[in-house]
Amino acid sequence: MADVFLKIEDEILSVPRASLAIAQVFEDMFQAPQPPSPEGSTRDNPIVLEGEKIAEWRTLIKVLIPLSTGGNMPTNLSIYDWHDSLKLATKYNIEPVRKRAIEAIDGEDRYWYRHKIEWGLEYHVKSFIVDGSTAAVNALLDSTLNLGLSMSELGGASRLQTVVKLFWIEKALRSPDSVYHPSSPNPSPSDWANPISIRIKYSSVKCRKGTCGAPMYPDNLACLTCGHRHGEEETLAVTDWDRDWTGLRARLATIICSQCSKSIYSKNWAAYYQCTTCKEKFHINQHFPVTRVYDINELIEEAFEEEIKLCY
Ligand SMILES: [Zn+2]
Ligand SMILES: [Zn+2]
Repeated sequence: MADVFLKIEDEILSVPRASLAIAQVFEDMFQAPQPPSPEGSTRDNPIVLEGEKIAEWRTLIKVLIPLSTGGNMPTNLSIYDWHDSLKLATKYNIEPVRKRAIEAIDGEDRYWYRHKIEWGLEYHVKSFIVDGSTAAVNALLDSTLNLGLSMSELGGASRLQTVVKLFWIEKALRSPDSVYHPSSPNPSPSDWANPISIRIKYSSVKCRKGTCGAPMYPDNLACLTCGHRHGEEETLAVTDWDRDWTGLRARLATIICSQCSKSIYSKNWAAYYQCTTCKEKFHINQHFPVTRVYDINELIEEAFEEEIKLCY
């Protein structure tokens, strides 16, 4: 019962049965009622795996055996070895190998991110899609970074669609008002039943008085209750917003401190905030002009929504 014999590309590979059994498909095969001399029990009567590559299987076995016996994992596995293991582990549903291969590839930063997008889409790995897209979009945004992407390397029928998505994300980050955003059509205000969240910068709030219009926030963007300072570029998500002819507007009461979760405009629940430029006092439930920004992770989640749904 020790070994199972597999025939791949005219070669015979022997694999410890207990190791192979962690793959669900082989476990099911071994559990089924067996004839006296079942397939795979001898070198002369192997289990034939059509269309497989022996080199990939040899790599899989190198990972599979230590994982199933508690032995030492070889330390000389390349990124392509881990790719082969991930490919077969996904195909044959070998969860421990899949998990280990994903960790190994995630921990590897010297190889090109184009593999991450391609492999993430192919083998349904969310961290690969997110990391690969982030790196590609950053390279598009910063002309000093090497893009290193060729059209043919993005793989499969989804390649053009992937490139379009990357450019859409880049466009949304570069120029937030220029893209159509299906989750908040064009964008429309939220309704109570289905609040839509938008992201804004703390520093983008402007005075609503027509003759003023100055940037309007507490000194140093510091929360009036707890004193926590917010960065010039720091953002938050708001769900209570509306739109007028000037653009998007959010209520001061919902511009929440990242530290204490109270409005940064309200000291100890005060209901009014005074513009430091025009000195007019406003109720914090009023809406004020804000500028929308996008978070790269939210855009990736939106652009690759269908692909990410398939990940596990
Ligand atoms: Zn605070
Ligand atoms: Zn003002």
